[in-house]
This record gives sequence, structure tokens and C-alpha cells, in this order.
Amino acid sequence: IKPTGMNLISALAYYPIEAFFKKEWVKNFAMLTAVSVICFDLAYVHCSVPSLLCLYIMPVFLSVMFANKKLIASVTFLNIILFALTVFMTTNEISGLDFDGYYANVLVCFVVLICAYIFANILADYEIEARFLAATNQKRQNEIFEQVKRDPLTGLYNQKIFYDTLSVAMMQCYKVCVAVIDIDNFKSVNDTYGHATGDIVLIKLSDLLKNISGKSVVTARYGGEEFSVIFKDMDVKAAFEVMEKLRKEFSGYKFEQMNNSSVTFSCGITGPYSKNDSAVEFFDEADQALYYAKSHGKNRTIIYSDIHEEKK
Ligand code: GH3
Ligand code: MG
Ligand code: MG
Repeated sequence: IKPTGMNLISALAYYPIEAFFKKEWVKNFAMLTAVSVICFDLAYVHCSVPSLLCLYIMPVFLSVMFANKKLIASVTFLNIILFALTVFMTTNEISGLDFDGYYANVLVCFVVLICAYIFANILADYEIEARFLAATNQKRQNEIFEQVKRDPLTGLYNQKIFYDTLSVAMMQCYKVCVAVIDIDNFKSVNDTYGHATGDIVLIKLSDLLKNISGKSVVTARYGGEEFSVIFKDMDVKAAFEVMEKLRKEFSGYKFEQMNNSSVTFSCGITGPYSKNDSAVEFFDEADQALYYAKSHGKNRTIIYSDIHEEKK
């Protein structure tokens, strides 16, 4: 009963240690120490079976799963001490022991323990390499996934991610507004100053959009010279203020590449989302407001609900 009780205590002692110590290394070493104590218990209590000294290879091999060579060395050292202690206590306390046969077993088991240490190191090398490869692949995969989500020219989210984000926001948030921006007379910018200058204008507007992006504002390049913005848990008035500030900032910027002239955009906003429309239908309201802004002088922001007010 005593040795079995000791085994149980060793196993259970691990839990408070795991809860108390924050360092991963200490936790892992404590777990392997608990296993080592159980091995000691079995090897000492059953010392009439000296080959049980081979049990000490178990914690050494177990330590491989942590892929840490220092831990393997420490656990091996601990088990050599417990091995020596078992032999010392056995030879001291047990009378009538066949010493020649016993020491032959001790020698064999000790050599096995040393071999276990060597193999554990070889296995750890494989494990460390495999983990490194897995981590690198994971990182690469994340990078590729991030690239696929974004438009290469501006670094903003693409249209697919915009719709995915909008659909989720429409389910999760209390209030969702959406805005669409279209650069005014952009074709003439390209025609007059060239495509490369047109790209500079797109990048400038994207940078301004990135500045307003955050937890509750998600910006995307919808396509061409059109951009879209999602406002989470925001009133349409607040969204309007954000877009008006952005419109004024952009229209006030002078492009060196265009003889210090400026570019404007028109914007349509709708929200907060209340009906059972799809994301595409909801976005279409913002698009209608944009169309209204374009046909009413451009360089302005129009709220979808105001179109109907004005028409009345
Ligand atoms: P409006 O005020 O009515 O919006 O007129 P607009 O000239 O901006 O609109 P239009 O649709 O006629 O022209 C859009 C132009 O945007 C045409 C296209 O060549 C240009 N464009 C689309 N994508 C890019 C791009 O990635 N880079 C550049 N430089 N131009 C682009
Ligand atoms: Mg357009
Ligand atoms: Mg345009």
C-alpha cells in the first residue's frame, strides 16, 4: 500500500506545481520528476527483479516530446541519481543478495540508460527540426492568406473580404453603416498625367483610408477607383462625419505629380442596417446614394435616406 500511495502522491503533486509555476520548463521538469519518482518506487520496492532498473529510461524518452535538449540532460541526470540511490539502498538494506548477478544487471541497465540518453538526443533533433518546419510553414501560410485578402496596389482588403466582413458585421453588430467612395473624373487624371500618376492618387487615398481604419471601421478597395467602408456600431451621422472629414482632407491634398492640382471623390452612405437584406442589397443602397452624389455635382457625401427626403 505504501509504495502505491507514494506513486499516487507523485502523480497528483504535479497538479499544484502546474498551477503555481508559470514557466513551461519548470512544469515539464516537474512532470518528468513525478514519473521518475514512480520509476524509483517500482525499481526499489521490486529490487529482487534488478532488471527493473531499466525503468529509468522511461522519463528520459518521455522528455523527448518537449524537444528541449537541456531538459533531456537534466532528466537523465536526475534519473542517474535515482538509479544510484536505488542501487545503494538495495545493496545496503537487502540481505542475501547475489552480488555478482545483481551488479551485472546494474551494469547492463546503466548502459541502457546511457543509450536512452543518446537516442533521446537524436530523436529530439528530429522533433526540433519538425517543429521548426511546421512553424515556418504556418507562418508562410498566414502570409499567403494575408496576401490573398489584400489588393496588391493599395494593401487594402479586397472586395471579397469586404463582403465577408460586412455579412458578419450585419449579424454581429447592433448598428452597421456602409459607405462607397468613387474618385471624381479619375479617367481624366489617367489621361492627362498617366496611369502611374493615377496609381499615386489611389495610394494616397488608400493611406488616408488606412488612417481611419480600426476596430470599428474596416476599409477596402472595392475595385478600380472605388473604395468601400464598413462602420460597426456607429450611427449614420457619425459615419457621415468621418467620410466628410476624409473627403475634405483628400480634396485639400495637392499632388506634386499633377502640377499641385487636387483630386476629389464622391461618397454614398447608408445605414444603420435594419432590414433582412443581404450584404449586396445593403451595399446597393450606398451605391444609389453615390450615384445621387455623382449626378448632383460630385465632391460630396450623400446619405441614402436623405435622397428620399429630398425627393419628397
Ligand atoms: P466619375 O467622376 O463619373 O467617376 O468619372 P471617372 O472618370 O472617375 O469614371 P470612369 O469609370 O469613367 O473611369 C474610371 C477610371 O479608373 C478608368 C480606369 O482606367 C481607371 N482605373 C481603374 N483602376 C485603376 C488603377 O488601378 N490604376 C489607375 N491608374 N487607373 C485605374
Ligand atoms: Mg467608378
Ligand atoms: Mg470615378
